[in-house]
Amino acid sequence: MAKCTCEPAEIMLFPCAGGSNVGQLANQAAVKLDQEGTGKLFCLAGLGGHVQSIVESTKGAKRIVVIDGCPIGCAKATVEHAGFPVTDYVMVTKLDIRKKHEFTWTDEELDRVVQAVKESLES
Ligand code: SF4
Repeated sequence: MAKCTCEPAEIMLFPCAGGSNVGQLANQAAVKLDQEGTGKLFCLAGLGGHVQSIVESTKGAKRIVVIDGCPIGCAKATVEHAGFPVTDYVMVTKLDIRKKHEFTWTDEELDRVVQAVKESLES
């Protein structure tokens, strides 16, 4: 049986990774935060599928950070459907970034999302 490498972490990051600039920007922001050592990018699909190892690892989190691209709020709905509270919530379109079916963004837009997550974690 395949073993998951997703060990628990104090701060877990769940971006929606949706099919738009804002969804992928949410994902890229989580990648950057993880690479910087601010939290651990985690497996939203596993949580949505109620995959046991992913659910068990998520129980170890002190902060559950959700980054959604737009107000449809898919990642938040997925995390809550799995029975976990969202402790920190960032929505990319609320940061003055318009949703498009394109997969490009600026470094400044990426920094805006990363910064919004950091500010939430500081509160
Ligand atoms: S929150 Fe918006 S961008 Fe993210 S997956 Fe859902 S519809 Fe797509």
